[in-house]
Amino acid sequence: MEDVVVMFPSIGIGHLISMVQLGELILTHDPSLSITILLTPKHYEAASAANYIKTITGTTPSINFHHLRPLHHPPPDSSIHFFDLVYQLIKQYRPVVRDALQSISEKSNIKAVILDFMSNHAFEVCRSLNIPTYYLFTGSAFGAGIMLYLRTVLEKLPGSLKDQKFYIETPGNPPICSLDMPSTMQDKDTDSYKNLISTSENMAKSSGIIVNTFAALEPRVMKALADGEYIPDGPTPPTYYVGPLIKVDTGDDKCLDWLSSQPSKSVVVLIFGSLGKLKKDQLIEIAKGLEKSGQRFLWVVRNPPPENEAGHAFEFKDPDLDDLLPAGFLDRTKEMGLVVKNWAPQGEILRHESVGGFVCHCGWNSVLEAMHAGVPLVAWPLYAEQRMNRVHLVEGIKVALRLKMSEEGFVTAEELAERLRELMEEESGRKIRDYVSDISVSAKAAVVKGGSSRVAVAEGLRIRETLVGLVSGFMSG
Ligand code: UDP
Repeated sequence: MEDVVVMFPSIGIGHLISMVQLGELILTHDPSLSITILLTPKHYEAASAANYIKTITGTTPSINFHHLRPLHHPPPDSSIHFFDLVYQLIKQYRPVVRDALQSISEKSNIKAVILDFMSNHAFEVCRSLNIPTYYLFTGSAFGAGIMLYLRTVLEKLPGSLKDQKFYIETPGNPPICSLDMPSTMQDKDTDSYKNLISTSENMAKSSGIIVNTFAALEPRVMKALADGEYIPDGPTPPTYYVGPLIKVDTGDDKCLDWLSSQPSKSVVVLIFGSLGKLKKDQLIEIAKGLEKSGQRFLWVVRNPPPENEAGHAFEFKDPDLDDLLPAGFLDRTKEMGLVVKNWAPQGEILRHESVGGFVCHCGWNSVLEAMHAGVPLVAWPLYAEQRMNRVHLVEGIKVALRLKMSEEGFVTAEELAERLRELMEEESGRKIRDYVSDISVSAKAAVVKGGSSRVAVAEGLRIRETLVGLVSGFMSG
């Protein structure tokens, strides 16, 4: 029987790409294996994800997509937060996942299951079938540490984080204000919090935690994790830093043609993740800030979020740019900038030689893409764990400039213009530019044969197999 690794990604293109990339990495080490990725219909609801799945199906025959049957539950309430929606969906899917694993195991040997941390509710199913179960943490090593810390330390603090402003000591990272911790960790009475506690417990019991990062980026946090500082009451599971797991293909797109007509490292990119949407007054302010800054720019603009949207609408209607942006803006800036509707090939854009800076929402995939490409950041967190990431990026690993914003997250035109000039032209920006350029060299070196990600993984994996190699280790449990 064929040996197979089953993967269960979370919803959202970023999570899916990381999982597929991990699958490809495993196959590079052992082409005799096959990878089966479980998908619910929600996984390919977004056009970006559906297209990506189609491409992988056409190009990588050893990666199979197993389409789980649809559930006949009423559609979730649209006011549920995206995070809770995913956890709820995976919970509902547990019997279907069990059936799928049983049916796969009739024809193949399931050597391991790798769960996205947001697919946590499938953990007990896998364990009850005696399958070694790993977590892929698609955030930073710091984020993985905080996830473990939730059960061991944060849970023991009196009250909820949201109730008071105080600073939390985090091993290997500067202290973080309680209010900057992920929104999902703020209130102990919420489903989000309970889902995270369950994830924190299960991750600590798992066969290993695979993290999408690389040694040179977060060395202090990695040392703290290795020293057990995030799980003071017991052993930390083996931790594998296998990143950056990012898509590095090239494409042809009008954005890239436009970039090719711009001077080297002159363009600032503004893209706010797969879900980020800004209100109209903020879009107008950005437009003014870009004009004031005098910098060249490539900006992806989406329609503002409708009232009461909980942030999980993947469908984007084309924005009416003339209505959303200040009168004459597009005309006045046509030599300097390109405004793209809804979606642009961010990875390819960041790797383009003309790009010199990135206003980033602090999503981890975007951060890794920028680090790999050597592009320094201005941090503009929007949702999820992004405010916590900002502290890590600005004060911890120093790859981003901090953007001043109001408590509601509003950024003025003056502030944006100033930070862009600082990043692109000033001495304080130069430090970050130079450092990120070095980090880019390390990021690329980490993933080639003998690189830190490969070596660190192989070292950790020798525990159970004398045969050195990523796959043998992952699969041995
Ligand atoms: N992305 C893209 N084009 C866009 C917006 C996003 O290609 O216009 C990609 C981006 O390159 C990254 C992913 O979507 O790979 C976003 O993942 P991230 O973890 O940064 O943020 P999230 O969307 O999960 O908040």
